[in-house]
Amino acid sequence: MARYKGPVCRLCRREGLKLFLKGAKCFSDKCPVEKRNFAPGQHGKDRKAKVVGYGLQLREKQKAKRIYFTQEAQFRKYFENAARTPGVTGFLLLQQLERRLDSVLYRLGMAVARRQARQFIRHGHIEVNGRKVNIPSFQVKVGDEIAVRESSRNVPAIQQAREFSSHQAAPLWLEFDRENLKARVTALPKREDIQLPVNEQLIVELYSK
Ligand code: SF4
Repeated sequence: MARYKGPVCRLCRREGLKLFLKGAKCFSDKCPVEKRNFAPGQHGKDRKAKVVGYGLQLREKQKAKRIYFTQEAQFRKYFENAARTPGVTGFLLLQQLERRLDSVLYRLGMAVARRQARQFIRHGHIEVNGRKVNIPSFQVKVGDEIAVRESSRNVPAIQQAREFSSHQAAPLWLEFDRENLKARVTALPKREDIQLPVNEQLIVELYSK
């Protein structure tokens, strides 16, 4: 699947907030949102108009899409699945995003950013229930066991990610054995487990037009 290959810090600047796409840099004073918190591009500094209505709905959708680093077609598919499923559509949309394997690795602290998690998966470092999985959008379910493969335990980037996130608590719906880089899905995420600066209702309104 196609993916965005441009400078990711631009995405944060466009949304006007930190989307934490780069790992350590996001927590340092080198973060461009700290230094230049205005939209990128020639007229970025001049864009001061208040965003309302459709513009606001669009921005919420773009923000969520960029946080999870998904493409439009895939994001839309998540929405359509959510709309077909009984329940609150906005929450079901976020739940699917949160259940992506790359997002789970990031939440656990097995990777410093979702992009890095995606790379670990693509490079074959991750297994689910004892089988290698190389699809970042793989949806985890209750009972799944996620682990760094035995042969990949000493990969420097994986070790560094573990160090970096050693004080990070695992979400309540996941059980994490940090020492052995193994986790288990004990429940599906609830809305309060999904810490996101996103108003999902606006995304539902956008796609329901
Ligand atoms: Fe976003 Fe991180 Fe870049 Fe800051 S350093 S702009 S938070 S990706």
